[in-house]
Amino acid sequence: ALPSIQGHVKFEDLVFEYEPGRPALNGIQLDVQAGQSIALVGHTGSGKSTIMNLLCRFYDPNKGRVLIDGQDIREVTIQSLRSQIGVVLQDTFIFSGTIKENIRFGRLDATDREIEDVAKAVHAHDFIAALPNGYDTEVQERGNVLSMGQRQLISFARALLANPRVLILDEATASIDTDTELKIQEALKTLLAGRTSFIVAHRLSTIRNADKIVVLDHGRMMEIGNHDELMKE
Ligand code: ATP
Ligand code: MG
Repeated sequence: ALPSIQGHVKFEDLVFEYEPGRPALNGIQLDVQAGQSIALVGHTGSGKSTIMNLLCRFYDPNKGRVLIDGQDIREVTIQSLRSQIGVVLQDTFIFSGTIKENIRFGRLDATDREIEDVAKAVHAHDFIAALPNGYDTEVQERGNVLSMGQRQLISFARALLANPRVLILDEATASIDTDTELKIQEALKTLLAGRTSFIVAHRLSTIRNADKIVVLDHGRMMEIGNHDELMKE
C-alpha cells in the first residue's frame, strides 16, 4: 500500500500507445517536487489527458514508470493510489442531488460545518446561501440552477474537503463573467496550496501562476519552465 504520501511525482521515460505503433506519449520525463503546480498545455490530441490517465492508472505505460514518492505506482493498490489523488474533471463538476451532497461526495463523515468552511474558502458560500434552499438546494447534472463558474467552485469545494496530496484538474473552457473569474482564480490558489497539482490549463492566470509549464506536442514534451522563464526566450 501507499502510506500517506508527500506528493513527489516523477514520470520516467514514459512511452504509451493506445493503439500499437501510434504513441500517444513518447519520452515523457518530468520530475515534480511535492507541492509544485504543473500547467499542461498543448493542442487537442497532444497527450494532456493521457498523462492524467497514466497518473491515475487508468492505463499503464508501455515503457517507463510513474513514481510517487519514489515508488512505482504499479506496486501499490489502485484503491490506495486513487484515495490520494483528487480529480476535478470538467464533465463531472456536478451530479444530480443537493449542493451539500455534491460537496460531501466521498467524505460521508464530513459535518455541515466542514462543508460550509470549504465552501467559504473557495468563495462559494455566498451564492449557495443566497439560494432558496441554501445547501439543500437540488441541482441537476445538466440543469441551469448554477452557472458554469459556480459549478466549478462547487467542485473546488469538494476537492478541498477531500484534501488529496496530488490533484488533477481539467479547467473549464466555458467563458465566465469577470467577477466569477476572479473568485475562481483565488479559489484555485487556496485549493492548490500545499498540494502537487497537474492542471490542464486554459486560463492565462493559471498558466502564469504555475511552477512549471509543460507544453505537449504530438505526445512529446516540448518546453518546460515557468511563465517568466518562457517569456524571456
Ligand atoms: P484535448 O485537448 O482534446 O483534451 P489531449 O491533449 O487531452 O486533447 P489525449 O486525449 O491525451 O489528448 O490524446 C492523445 C492521443 O491519443 C490523440 O491522438 C488521441 O486521438 C489518442 N487517444 C486518446 N484517447 C484514446 C483512446 N481511448 N483510444 C485510442 N486513442 C486515444
Ligand atoms: Mg484532454
